[in-house]
Amino acid sequence: MSARILDGKTISADLRAGVKARVEALLAGGGRRPGLAVVLLGRDPASEVYVRNKRNACAQVGFYSELHGLSEASSQGQLLALIDALNADSRIDGILIQLPLPDRIDTEAVIERILPTKDVDGFHPYNIGRLALRTPSVLRPCTPKGIMTLLAHTGRALEGLDAVVVGESDIVGRPMALELLAARCTITVCHEYTRDLAEKTRSADVLVTAVGRPRFIPGDWVKEGALAIDVGINRTTDGSLVGDLDFASVSRRAAWITPVPGGVGPMTIASLLENTLQAARLQLGEPG
Ligand code: NAP
Repeated sequence: MSARILDGKTISADLRAGVKARVEALLAGGGRRPGLAVVLLGRDPASEVYVRNKRNACAQVGFYSELHGLSEASSQGQLLALIDALNADSRIDGILIQLPLPDRIDTEAVIERILPTKDVDGFHPYNIGRLALRTPSVLRPCTPKGIMTLLAHTGRALEGLDAVVVGESDIVGRPMALELLAARCTITVCHEYTRDLAEKTRSADVLVTAVGRPRFIPGDWVKEGALAIDVGINRTTDGSLVGDLDFASVSRRAAWITPVPGGVGPMTIASLLENTLQAARLQLGEPG
């Protein structure tokens, strides 16, 4: 089998065009431009690139966005005070704190300070809890949400499929498992203590890898006809970007596969835009 490519670039471009059209309709009806505040503490080069990409995406769809760059030495109190001000700011619909934060900052306390209705990353325990309970109108974590959109594009019904998620981080693996469970898959979540990982991945009709190890999973760990979703972004010694899946060998087994780059990454940003638009509706008291 030679896998079909799940092209995140093309699918996300369609989603972004849809968001742009809805912003134009909002403005034409006399509404306010949706607004995103991005908070960056310190000067981590990778974080600066991510923040720039997110703000460019906002500009392309017609959102208002503002960057709050705090110095490396900023205290937790200063960060919390900024979040309080953004929570109260009616121009701001979504608040995004670029992670990771330095160890001296209590990341959970920071995330929990954001109003759940402005939590466009979907990391607040209120939003994760609603995802766990399958409550509608929740702001969903962006990467798993984008992956559910990609899976819908395969046309394959997910009900009853065996799904294996490798990685159990708060931002990808765990909410991914909740999304797939809500879609009526049977879930296995793997981590560093998982025994016989290959046996688990070979059982997967849907395989999602979020590990952060280059080409960690070879083709013979993948079931024939699987939907293979690669979240990993890893830089190799020659400077190229690769995923957690060994793309060449997995492509010979899977029915569908996401490339790296150009698969899950662009969908994460498109989901952030969708969440910001949804948050704008929530500020207006609409169902979201
Ligand atoms: P993370 O917090 O480092 O989590 C990695 C997970 O992989 C952990 O749960 C870890 O298990 C598990 N793991 C590590 N070695 C393993 C092994 N040998 N067998 C089984 N599980 C193992 O990473 P993350 O934030 O979820 O990110 C994962 C990757 O996705 C990174 O490459 C990141 O850059 C990328 N990413 C991409 C996007 C995107 O939009 N494309 C978004 C977010 C992240 P333990 O919990 O037991 O340690």
